[in-house]
Amino acid sequence: MGNPLKLANLIGGQPANPGGDRWLDVFEPASGQVFARCPASSRDDVERAVAAARQAAPAWAATSLEERARLLQRLADLVEAELESLAALESQDNGKPVALARLVDIPRAVANLRFFAAAITQWPSEAHAGNPQTLNITLRQPLGVVGCISPWNLPLYLFTWKIAPALAAGNTVVAKPSEITPCSAARLGELSIVAGFPAGVLNIVHGEGPAVGQAIVEHREVKAVSFTGSTRTGAAIATTAAPMFKKLSLEMGGKNPAIVFADFDFSDANLAAIVRSGFANQGEICLCGSRLLVQRSILEPFRERYLAAVKALQVGDPRESSSQLGAMVSRAHFDKVMAAIATARDEGGQIACGGHALDIGGRCANGWFIAPTVIEGLPSRSRTNQEEIFGPVVSLIPFDDEDDAIRIANDTDYGLAASLWTRDLDRAHRVAAQLEFGIVWVNCWMSRDLRTPFGGVKNSGIGREGGVEALRFFSEPKNICIEFTSGTSDKTGKSREIGGIR
Ligand code: NAD
Repeated sequence: MGNPLKLANLIGGQPANPGGDRWLDVFEPASGQVFARCPASSRDDVERAVAAARQAAPAWAATSLEERARLLQRLADLVEAELESLAALESQDNGKPVALARLVDIPRAVANLRFFAAAITQWPSEAHAGNPQTLNITLRQPLGVVGCISPWNLPLYLFTWKIAPALAAGNTVVAKPSEITPCSAARLGELSIVAGFPAGVLNIVHGEGPAVGQAIVEHREVKAVSFTGSTRTGAAIATTAAPMFKKLSLEMGGKNPAIVFADFDFSDANLAAIVRSGFANQGEICLCGSRLLVQRSILEPFRERYLAAVKALQVGDPRESSSQLGAMVSRAHFDKVMAAIATARDEGGQIACGGHALDIGGRCANGWFIAPTVIEGLPSRSRTNQEEIFGPVVSLIPFDDEDDAIRIANDTDYGLAASLWTRDLDRAHRVAAQLEFGIVWVNCWMSRDLRTPFGGVKNSGIGREGGVEALRFFSEPKNICIEFTSGTSDKTGKSREIGGIR
């Protein structure tokens, strides 16, 4: 590998090295080698970024919706034009198959930018005509400077999912991508300048969470924080932000069930979708169904076909188009997933397939690969079935009937997403209504319409992103009540007063 790629912060429209000249190694998960260096920024760098964002805020808030939309579309064009190189970069940085980055990550980043460019120009205003004499208008104003903190699993996809609505709604942004996968966001920052975003509208500060992320959350001038990451970090952010009554959107972990009823349509496509729901992106998607609940009456035939499909998954060099799964994002995460598999064994779980690291050989000999793993025989209250593993590990859990399925599915502190598979529409409605999750997919998984609310309940999150929910989060509603005195019959104002009380 040649000289490491050197990333920079983006502050006030300029690339900037970290003030303290400290740098972090960025590893290629497939080879275990350093391929980039990322600023280990400090509180002072965040201070500079917030100052730049503050300075840019009034003019950006006053910029027409059409112009904000045009700039977001222009940025989308530039990302789209670099689809191939960005997909390669994302794959090298995260360990995911380049085919997946090409199909999902980068196109979705483009879609995020385009969606919110369109959404802001079509967001209807709210007005309420009450009595003949009053008109209420809800004005939605930008918040000012907002913070966006994103994780490593879908780096550009989730980074743009936050910054696009924040910018569209007229805020200036201080963003922090994950220090583990900072490369695509750094490139996006460069492209934002090419697109013509005014200096200071989008600022990117790289570095570690407790230093940079914490400084963003603590900063009094940062009016809202949108965070996606682990529940543990979300709790730390909520604790820091609470005394300041800061607006928070927290998208956190999951322990999602995929529920397969006996009457499900046993097609190859459905089976493939269920396998994908557990193992896509090496299981490193917050929405992955890591608990596979299968009705006991079909357990044996289902199990046989499912295990055969999981064993057939191709784990390999992410650069190869034949690879369906790549490497774990980091050595630390590889160790965490391997430890979770060891825990499953200790708890008495049987390993139906996988359960070990994989040596891919060649240039990937030192990469962090894990064989797709299916565990059986553990009760719902085991650690394996309660704790988020966030790797290519699925636990197979039989259930007897509908009530049993709902009970097991809801037996978790998390509540992000569930999928259920049945041909019975009545059952689908009945069960979906009783599942304690923010998202329920019926006969599909991770089918996303960007207009829909996205987020979880319980320990999976607070608030919703997506569509109008994201625009609402990134704006402050102000009620303006106009009363027309000319229409009042009582010149003392009495009737107006009574009419106005609600
Ligand atoms: P993480 O919580 O370790 O880090 C997420 C981000 O927060 C990173 O940018 C990190 O640097 C920053 N951070 C860390 N400590 C911080 C602090 N004290 N203050 C402010 N920021 C801080 O999460 P991760 O390991 O990068 O991502 C994996 C987790 O993200 C999993 O739990 C997964 O379920 C979750 N996730 C959730 C969603 C969702 O939409 N609900 C989507 C993707 C990932």
